[in-house]
Amino acid sequence: MHELSIVASLFEILEAKARENQATKIVGVRLRVGKLAGVVPEFLQTAFDSYKQDTIAAEARLEIEEVPLKMRCRKCAAEIEKEDFVLVCPSCGSTDLELLEGMELLLDKIDLEV
Ligand SMILES: [Zn+2]
Repeated sequence: MHELSIVASLFEILEAKARENQATKIVGVRLRVGKLAGVVPEFLQTAFDSYKQDTIAAEARLEIEEVPLKMRCRKCAAEIEKEDFVLVCPSCGSTDLELLEGMELLLDKIDLEV
């Protein structure tokens, strides 16, 4: 499962950060997940919850913020935010759109207890 390998690398970062800050516990983690990142938030949540057992983040809560698609029309330069995948510019009808946001998977915030 794709999400499991994401969570595994996430935990490497979390553990490094905890060590860096001499934290005893990680209590919260926030991720930003783009609509096009190819990740199902529910799967990510489940993978996180099973992975965290017996780690420094055993009590951590995972928060996932979904980032909508953001695009710019190459024809009329309109900026578009979309919840769907109909990739047509609403102001001029062009399909020549440039993706600005929505593909990323970012670690946004870690709450540590020191
Ligand atoms: Zn346009």
